[in-house]
Amino acid sequence: MRVLAIGAHPDDVEILCSGTLALCAERGDEIFIAIATNGNVGTGDPAITREQIGAIRHEEAKKSVANIGATLIWMDFDDEWLFNNAETRTRFIDAIREARPDVMIIHDLNDYHPDHRTAGAIARDCRIPASVPLVKTKFPETPIPTVFAMDTVLGNSFEPEIYVNITSVIETKKKMLLTHDSQAAWLKHVFGAEITDNMLIQGKFRGAQAGCEYAEGFKLMHDWPHTGDSRLLP
Ligand SMILES: [Zn+2]
Repeated sequence: MRVLAIGAHPDDVEILCSGTLALCAERGDEIFIAIATNGNVGTGDPAITREQIGAIRHEEAKKSVANIGATLIWMDFDDEWLFNNAETRTRFIDAIREARPDVMIIHDLNDYHPDHRTAGAIARDCRIPASVPLVKTKFPETPIPTVFAMDTVLGNSFEPEIYVNITSVIETKKKMLLTHDSQAAWLKHVFGAEITDNMLIQGKFRGAQAGCEYAEGFKLMHDWPHTGDSRLLP
């Protein structure tokens, strides 16, 4: 199977669904991780420019996805300024067409950050047009994938329908997130927490709900036309 996860920022996919992606990789799936924005405001260090932090985060993303042998699709839009328009939709359609996914994992439309909600909305809106031949972009059309929403950050306003037991790959998930080294000090400054703290709390909480040590939560997007279901996840 082919699996595409689309995150708004470098590190979102690591926090919210990389355990599931690691399990998909273990079962032999081909994994693609697309990142909409380049994270170019993700620092509080006045000596670092937007271009520099964007480049640093691109390198961190490359290293992170290599842990599970995934292909990185770097869309390079500005952090904090993601909008649903013709340019972003065209780029998202190409990301979907490049990955040709059976399963697509996107942000939930209730997440806290506008870039997350917008990335989720664009991805959802591009599910059908990516399959339409006369919608011309760089890559040819691809079949309509089954779409799952990943959990929101710390699970706010999100009731999972599906849990994936990620206990066996929690160290891989941790390793992937820790690759985003530039964010460790920044997140501590903004949220007062270590970079892995909230991810581990959320994993434990979803695990307690699911009856295992660590889990990730998902919802099936019930959009027409209905394609697959929860059996597509590991
Ligand atoms: Zn984010």
